[in-house]
Amino acid sequence: MPETTAPIKRSPEAPSVELTELTRPELEDALGELGLERYRAAQIFQWVYRRGVSEVEAMTDLSHEHRRVLAEHFTITTPPVARHDVSSDGTEKFLLTLQDGRHVESVFIPDTPNQTFCVSTQVGCAMGCAFCLTATMGLVRNLTPGEIVGQVRRLADTLHLRDERFNIVFMGMGEPLHNYDNTMAALRILADPHGLAVNPKRITLSTVGLVPAIERLAAEPIMPNLAVSLHAPTDDVRATLVPLNRKYGIADIVDACRRFPLARRSRITFEYVLLAGVNDSVDAARRLAGLLHGLRAKVNLIPLNPAAGIPFERPSDERIDGFGRVLAERGITVSVRKSRGRDIRAACGQLAVEGAKKSAAQRLADAIE
Ligand code: SF4
Repeated sequence: MPETTAPIKRSPEAPSVELTELTRPELEDALGELGLERYRAAQIFQWVYRRGVSEVEAMTDLSHEHRRVLAEHFTITTPPVARHDVSSDGTEKFLLTLQDGRHVESVFIPDTPNQTFCVSTQVGCAMGCAFCLTATMGLVRNLTPGEIVGQVRRLADTLHLRDERFNIVFMGMGEPLHNYDNTMAALRILADPHGLAVNPKRITLSTVGLVPAIERLAAEPIMPNLAVSLHAPTDDVRATLVPLNRKYGIADIVDACRRFPLARRSRITFEYVLLAGVNDSVDAARRLAGLLHGLRAKVNLIPLNPAAGIPFERPSDERIDGFGRVLAERGITVSVRKSRGRDIRAACGQLAVEGAKKSAAQRLADAIE
């Protein structure tokens, strides 16, 4: 029968599934239930993730009948850009709109030294870290796997990077291990060899120290690099910065890290936000070095990116250098994160928190009118 070229219409009554929420095995099952060949999932993954197609109609190596069935049962959504700011240092910050109207932030960092996408895993965050703007939102909701991967798809398309190699860090809004299942599903979709095929070695997951979830992660077949937000070498200081420390203390976290299986030549990154007069002393650096002794670790020092509403200051350059020197003298690999995108408010949560406040103000204005 000759192929018809008539446009494919979705039946308004047909229930639709968001295709980008499915891992490839899940898509295979869904296709099987519709009477389609399961192996078509690999073809569809190539279209959506490798070629950036968002219309079933464009999948021209599928028969018209296949495309008709797919269009009737699936949608393909990519979050639109609500705002895109480019910093003078090359950092690009995106505010993306989700289907329920909420917003998440994603950041492109051009030279770390590779190209990196920093993506969110939750709208807001429940962890309440004292130096973090996202914490002021509380947890609004978890992102779905499709919404997590959708940030990568949107940024890769907007920046024309789909065919290039890039790193991904789960370090945007939210605690990824607090949204464990969806984050892991997103990881499987990102790493799928028929899709974007991102090597898990190029993906880093940053956690504030949910110990049971770190243990669970240690048993996953596909494992990202692990980054742990430590921020202080003693429980009394850390508990004032990271409330979760009252449940899982530093010793529990470091023990879990010692048990974490590491690939050859890989290390755990310990993130340390430097706050003037709080955790930036030479003594704190010595204690941190002692804590990490014998671990395959590197420390990433992050001088605070100050923002209105955050009651901490950035240490002086001398204090930052002094802290790093103490670690380096004790054989610890240490890097100092450059302040990125200060002119575009690239601190985590800055745009979304401002946006949420604006929405609330807008709602109030709407109510008064
Ligand atoms: S620093 Fe990370 S874990 Fe802590 S509140 Fe902010 S987003 Fe959540």
